[in-house]
Amino acid sequence: MSGMLASTAAAVGIIDKAVSIAKKLADDGGDIDKATLKLELANLMTELASVKMEVITTQVLLFDAEQRNRQLEEQLKDKVSFVFRDGVYWKDGDDTPFCTMCYEKVGMKIHMIHYEKYYDSTWHRWHCKVCKDDVSIG
Ligand SMILES: [Zn+2]
Repeated sequence: MSGMLASTAAAVGIIDKAVSIAKKLADDGGDIDKATLKLELANLMTELASVKMEVITTQVLLFDAEQRNRQLEEQLKDKVSFVFRDGVYWKDGDDTPFCTMCYEKVGMKIHMIHYEKYYDSTWHRWHCKVCKDDVSIG
C-alpha cells in the first residue's frame, strides 16, 4: 500500500510540473519565441511520459494488492467454514470430510472415502487415499 501511495504522490507532483509548464506557455502567449516554445513543449512531453510511467507502476501495485486481497478473503471464508470435528475436517454444505493428516501437515484438502468393510468384519471409517490414514466413525 505504501508503494502505491508513493507512486500516486509522485504522479501528482509530475502533473503539477506539467500544468505549470502549460500555464507558462499560455501566459506568455504570442510573445514566446519558437525556440523557447519548442523547449517548453519538449519539457512538457518529458513530464507527461514520466507521469505515464508512474500511473503504470500504480496500476501494477494496485493489481497486486487486489489479488492479495481476494486471496485473503478466500482464506478467511475458508477458515470460517472449515471446522475440525470427530477427528476430521468438515466444510459447510459438504457431507464428505477432509483428511486431518494431509491438512495439518501440508495444508492439502483431501476428501476422504467412506469404507465399512475390513477383511471379514465391519469397520466404519473415513480413509485418505493420499496418506492412507483411517479415522473411525462413531
Ligand atoms: Zn491424508
